[in-house]
Amino acid sequence: MGNIKEILISEDQIKNRIFDLAKEIEKDYDDEILMIGILKGSTLFMADLIRNIDKTVYMEFMQVSSYEGTESTGKINIKKDIEVDLTGKDVLVVEDIIDTGNTLGYLVENLRSRGAKSVEIVTLLSKPERRLKEIDCKYIGFEIEDKFVVGFGMDYNQRYRNLSYIGIYDNSEENI
Ligand code: 5GP
Repeated sequence: MGNIKEILISEDQIKNRIFDLAKEIEKDYDDEILMIGILKGSTLFMADLIRNIDKTVYMEFMQVSSYEGTESTGKINIKKDIEVDLTGKDVLVVEDIIDTGNTLGYLVENLRSRGAKSVEIVTLLSKPERRLKEIDCKYIGFEIEDKFVVGFGMDYNQRYRNLSYIGIYDNSEENI
């Protein structure tokens, strides 16, 4: 497993939690849902989530940048934008993990200003201890402690996204 110190959340735990989140979402929305996945970390989560939602779901993607290695730079840039009109739409932003909250704080404000009827967030993970910006997140898969995690879509310098579990990444010198 190289730099993976331990498995934090197993494949089965992820699968079960995603199913429950999907059913909650399905119950809360009467109509169509426009899901916006934040690239690249949310892709595996989004793929599993939408397959468990028995409603009309539209998939869009945005890409923002704020991280280098394991550090947040705090400055958000939109690298890839959506090309659909959000006016009157119920938007659900799909994120892999909320850390400082800077990314989603910026994004939610940005999406609301485009005339969406509602903008909610679903995240697989949240690190509440690290929050710098308060985020109103309606659906949270797991709250975790302040550790850098990889797997199930999440990377360290673009590696480990293909792990089917979520592991704690160990960047101490002796393991590199
Ligand atoms: P925030 O803006 O909330 O500080 O950061 C959100 C983004 O930072 C996530 O979408 C993710 O790309 C990255 N991030 C934050 N914490 C972790 C982590 O523990 N592991 C990985 N792989 N990415 C993280």
